[in-house]
Amino acid sequence: MMVDSGRKVPHIQTPLPGPLSRALIETDEQFVSPSYTRSYPLVIRRASGTTLEDLDGNLFLDFTAGIAVCATGHCHPQVVAAIQRQAEQLLHMCGADFYYPPLKDLARKLCEIAPGTSPKRVLFTNSGAEAIEAAIKLARYHTRRQHILAFYGAFHGRTMGALSLTASKITQRRRFEPLLPEVTHVGYANPYRNPYATEGGEGCVRFIEDRLFKTVLPPEEVAAIVVEPIQGEGGYVVPPADYHQQLKALAERHGILFVVDEVQSGMGRTGKMFAIEHWGVEPDIVCVAKGIASGMPLGAMIAKAGIMDWEKGAHASTFGGNPVSCVAALETISLLEGGLMENARQVGGYLKTRLQELQQRHPLIGDVRGKGLMIGADLVKDQVAKTPAVAQRDAILQRCFEKGLVLLGCGESVIRFCPALVVTEAEVDTAVEILEAAMQEVAPATGVA
Ligand code: PLP
Repeated sequence: MMVDSGRKVPHIQTPLPGPLSRALIETDEQFVSPSYTRSYPLVIRRASGTTLEDLDGNLFLDFTAGIAVCATGHCHPQVVAAIQRQAEQLLHMCGADFYYPPLKDLARKLCEIAPGTSPKRVLFTNSGAEAIEAAIKLARYHTRRQHILAFYGAFHGRTMGALSLTASKITQRRRFEPLLPEVTHVGYANPYRNPYATEGGEGCVRFIEDRLFKTVLPPEEVAAIVVEPIQGEGGYVVPPADYHQQLKALAERHGILFVVDEVQSGMGRTGKMFAIEHWGVEPDIVCVAKGIASGMPLGAMIAKAGIMDWEKGAHASTFGGNPVSCVAALETISLLEGGLMENARQVGGYLKTRLQELQQRHPLIGDVRGKGLMIGADLVKDQVAKTPAVAQRDAILQRCFEKGLVLLGCGESVIRFCPALVVTEAEVDTAVEILEAAMQEVAPATGVA
């Protein structure tokens, strides 16, 4: 169902929030957990492609895709049709206890497209955090080691195991300790804010080898290095060209499993099926979720077959690999392979160029980075000290929302762009125009506020 019915998007026709949205929010806020991080008073009635319609008939251009989830755009007709067909046949039967075709088909497909040539196997989950939990458990089971190495800035989810690896915002961990023991965090190589080249410094792989492994952490006790190929919540940070090769080599030298969290970066978003392919590295375990089923809940842990050596009953989930989610994923992958991944590469390149042009005109933008449609603009108060422009970033996001462009932040002061992979260059032009107008209002280019 098209929601824009011929109207130009965005189209804001009421004050925000409109009266119907305002009434819903009042009730919602009485009954729903206050821990949710809603940034905008946006109540969505329906959506299609990159367009959201709120309860009051306002149309928004969505550059979040439900946080990098609706890969094929909202309610892609082929995905919806696949869901409808499957819903008439089988809703649930528990893939951990019984067999059914969509689960087998999707497992085989994921094994085919996973990075590298080693045979693989899949364990299905409902979410990204659960895929990470599964990876932690498998890494411990297979290696019989306990320790995990993770990175500052990482976000791996909010369940207790995944949270133990997460080091993104203190509010996510405060008052939840004790978490999983034997987790060590190290700096993530951020070429803009934490120069990788600093000899032996945080973020440098040599720091792990020369300092950590020689002083506090016996490498033979480390089960896994868990890393995002491109840090998501941490600020859309793209590490240097040899970073993952170096991490993988380090892991191999010590018999440590190299686990990549592709929950946000995977499923075509960066112009390749998995972001780690940009570094040409074959991981031992890959975790995916978010974009895999275009909005249906599903996650997966894909591991080298030789590593997935656990016994019957060691791990499973009631809903993981639900048949309706599996057919949505199969349809999503077919659309990605049929052109959307290429669109992410092309339109993502266009978006990056447009933002780099904007950067030339606007000193508030310190860095534009990313791959495909996983692009971040890091806002700074001054270009030399690179002081994060947090208040300005937040104010710009609010102005964009008022003008009908939905964006989210990440990192300390980064604007993240993760639209659906169906986004067009014309939509990018609209988004960049709105962003520039919002930036001019908040911090005119002649002098950063
Ligand atoms: N890993 C990464 C890289 C993520 O971005 C997220 C969610 O934002 C997760 C894991 C957790 O996924 P979920 O919210 O589905 O549990």
